[in-house]
Amino acid sequence: MITLDGKNTSKDIKEELEVEVSQLLANGGKRPHLAAILVGNDGASETYIGAKVKACDKVGFESTLIRFESDVTVEELLAEIERVNENTDIDGLIVQLPLPKHIDEMKVTEAINPIKDVDGFHPTNIGRMALNLPTYLPATPAGILELLERHEVETSGKHCVVIGRSHIVGSPMSILMARNNYPGNCTVTLTHSRTINLKEITKTADILIVALGKAEFVTSDMIKDGVCIIDVGITRVKSDKTKSGWKLLGDVAFEKVKDKCSFITPVPGGVGPMTIAMLLKNTLISAKSKLGS
Ligand code: NAD
Repeated sequence: MITLDGKNTSKDIKEELEVEVSQLLANGGKRPHLAAILVGNDGASETYIGAKVKACDKVGFESTLIRFESDVTVEELLAEIERVNENTDIDGLIVQLPLPKHIDEMKVTEAINPIKDVDGFHPTNIGRMALNLPTYLPATPAGILELLERHEVETSGKHCVVIGRSHIVGSPMSILMARNNYPGNCTVTLTHSRTINLKEITKTADILIVALGKAEFVTSDMIKDGVCIIDVGITRVKSDKTKSGWKLLGDVAFEKVKDKCSFITPVPGGVGPMTIAMLLKNTLISAKSKLGS
């Protein structure tokens, strides 16, 4: 069993990005600049945004955090997005999800200029991804592809089963694993909450990508020997063994399945750190494309 180590792989990517930023500056370019909008003060969102800002610092990007109270109106939010769209100094814009219930997330996503949509959530960029055209791939799926590629996991002709059909992970992942590319060229089955006989399907998976948000859902009897498992899930559960009183669990019962796997991502330290690295990579692509224009 080989652990697909997202912590070290993301560290390598960040070091590569740092070098690229130095080269960009040496060639007369400006420092890549990521702007992030945070609405309200949800603890998990604060943690994610904090990690993104810190990662920007680490690789030499500029970052701007724009905060709004949770009672912000859609109009106020859209006006700010428009200001960022027009600010030529800013290369990438992300809006931390989820947003409060009174705000239509799709309306907000659609307001971001696709060339600054480094999260890759805009319908234009999703469409380009589906057509295998150059675009910003959504960060979590892009991080999974990078993990597979850097560990030389064979994907061609394999049966890839994806659990979960969210817009940000499961659905794009199913498209990417089926495309004519490496990693890709899989025969893909996308499963979800209405899937019947899930276990019969997962047992045939050569590659199993799990993103449903239920701690330790995938157990040893659901997989075959030699499977490669990508565990996207993150659930925070109480623990009396950690200083914080919390620990993170994936969607896969890691200890129970690991010996049957050829490759597996741990939680934490698997897909999570890769997501931020790929967000930075997308921001650099945006900054570089301006230099060329
Ligand atoms: P989501 O919460 O939007 O949707 C869950 C999906 O799981 C749905 O499509 C649903 O149909 C499916 N599902 C639910 N119960 C099921 C069942 N019993 N059998 C089969 N399918 C079932 O999904 P999401 O936003 O992709 O999040 C999934 C998990 O991944 C969460 O734990 C989230 O925190 C985590 N996540 C991690 C990262 C990361 O960077 N590591 C990024 C995004 C999401």
